[in-house]
Amino acid sequence: ADSEDREFEARQTICPFCGVGCALAYDPKNGKATGREGPVNARGELCPKGVAAFDVVDHDDRLTKPLVREHGRFVTAPWEEAFDRIEAAFGDIVAEHGPDALTFFASSNCTNEENYVLQKLARMLGTNSVDNCARLCHSSTVAAMGERFGAGAMTNSMADLREADAYLVVGANPAENHPITFQSYLAPAIKSGTTLIHVDPRANATTKQADHHLPVRPGYDIPLLNAMAKVVVEEGLTDEAFLDERVEGYDALRAFLDDVDVDRNADLAGVDADELRAAARAYASVERGAIFTGMGMSQHHCGTDNVHALLNLALLTGNVGKPGSGVNPLRGQNNVQGAGDVGALPNVLPGYRPVTDEDARERLAAEWGIEPPPMPGLTEVEATHAFGDEVRGAFVLGENPAMTEPNANRVREQFERLDFLVVQDLFRTETAEHADVVLPGSAWAERGGTVTNTDRQVQRMRPNGDPPGDARPDLDVLCELGARLVDADAFDYDGPEAVFEELTRVTPQYAGMSYDGIGAGSQRWPFPEGAEEGTAVLHRETFGTGEKRAELRVVEHVDPVDSVDDDELVLTTGRVLQHFNSGALSRRSGILVRLRGEDVLQIHPDDAAARGIEDGDEVRVSNDRGTVTVEADVTPGIRHGTVFATFHYADPLVNVLTGDTLDPVAKIPEYKHSAVRVSVERAD
Ligand code: SF4
Repeated sequence: ADSEDREFEARQTICPFCGVGCALAYDPKNGKATGREGPVNARGELCPKGVAAFDVVDHDDRLTKPLVREHGRFVTAPWEEAFDRIEAAFGDIVAEHGPDALTFFASSNCTNEENYVLQKLARMLGTNSVDNCARLCHSSTVAAMGERFGAGAMTNSMADLREADAYLVVGANPAENHPITFQSYLAPAIKSGTTLIHVDPRANATTKQADHHLPVRPGYDIPLLNAMAKVVVEEGLTDEAFLDERVEGYDALRAFLDDVDVDRNADLAGVDADELRAAARAYASVERGAIFTGMGMSQHHCGTDNVHALLNLALLTGNVGKPGSGVNPLRGQNNVQGAGDVGALPNVLPGYRPVTDEDARERLAAEWGIEPPPMPGLTEVEATHAFGDEVRGAFVLGENPAMTEPNANRVREQFERLDFLVVQDLFRTETAEHADVVLPGSAWAERGGTVTNTDRQVQRMRPNGDPPGDARPDLDVLCELGARLVDADAFDYDGPEAVFEELTRVTPQYAGMSYDGIGAGSQRWPFPEGAEEGTAVLHRETFGTGEKRAELRVVEHVDPVDSVDDDELVLTTGRVLQHFNSGALSRRSGILVRLRGEDVLQIHPDDAAARGIEDGDEVRVSNDRGTVTVEADVTPGIRHGTVFATFHYADPLVNVLTGDTLDPVAKIPEYKHSAVRVSVERAD
């Protein structure tokens, strides 16, 4: 797959990693990716991941031909044979068990067009079981914000967020995970006086810039946020005019907060009560306070309720519907927003219309010729749990659930229970090892289409070259599969622009957008038919629900799923600057591996001393679900009683330790709180 065999040219496209959406292009002068002046990275800035992006394009491990399993081993095969096998196996499964026995994992790392085509394929086949890994990162944010505000997305644009007087960052680490957002938008504002409040069990690069740090105990966000709400109400920091005009449910919340004891809640949340009060005042007493949130909030079995408690703070203080305010979930992958927007979710159609909505189904039927089924399908983790039972066949596009789903030992067993698994990816990932057919995919520099970043900007991707060997653009492969499995005419597109035109007809938020209109810039949703530009600040006059008012909600704390014995610690997982998600891409980058080759377990000095652990020791981390061995990083940066590791590495595969209990609404797993035993492995 050496790029020297292929020709690349410099055409502006979008970074394949995080949801910030920086523009970049292949640079023929140095054979690497370089930043372009895009709508987000106005001066062409890139973080280390963006700089390393070309490493995966010309990696020696790239798949160049389809692989099919013969007598337990993979052999290369022509496309025709790979397609024949999929068509026959999926056809048999549908004939015997019905279409709901198939499930489709779309990808928040693929384009809007690829996701749209895959969900169309699933729905035309007769199942809504199509999901993407947004399920695992922000489904709870989308659920709570969708219900209360009518849109599960950043309420504001990065540009107007520069105008905030205070940032309340809860369960997110933008300095490392959204580096260009932090560097180019937040850091300059902080430098000019914007207060930063950071709520995170771990002191990290974001904390370094913070005025207030609340090192919350994992799983205890609700007591903390309720206590902050109590301070806001008690000290008269509410926005009374906003409460009168735009909010309902204040009396009920106030009655609930009457019984909240700030000191007791702070104690439960493991933070200093005075510091909590100071943080509440810092956020609520300014004219413009903006909330950012991330997976520290969302990845709990009470993730949706966590976000509900956060929304209360924004509503109490009137921090919605104006520049420099709002609630702003920082999305992880480069198209996690778009994958949901275009319907790669089991409960909603393109544009977040419920599958149960008859009108919405009929509108799609008018476009597709077949009506989607009316019952919601299975979410990613539900589907994996049903492998071998209700689910017999799966198609996984550009995701690596064998590593990213919780309780990974169980997940691996479940994959073996499938009758037939197809994986489409750049590499033989950990998930591909379980497959019956592996289709070689296209990398960022080999695809056209659009992606939607974290602040709702739709930008265009442009191929800089062709995929290696016999690999083909993902969209072509998905369309051919659609033609074979469903209907040739429905998947006969003349390239990504034709798919984009169709998806704008059925996705109301995208209705007025066009390829030409986006050009080298962006168009932001909502962009209704006839609009001249998208809307930067949502909910100015009415909420996305169509209502003038949003509801305040009483949110009660529920304990984490794992109880923690005296000799146990709480494992919380997360990301670091140099790597990305399952590491399928970033662990194949020479630059990024040189920057950070191995994982470590952050452990507090007191917890380490109590176990005879010294910095650099190999430690064994275990619970009933699994065991990993990893080097200890003894640091006061992690709160006492908590340990931290990333989920980027295949070894240690930290997700063998995480639990798979799901939030009842969003079906997101509880990644952020797992009871573990930690012991030293020293040879002496
Ligand atoms: Fe890519 Fe995100 Fe880094 Fe920008 S901030 S270069 S989009 S990884």
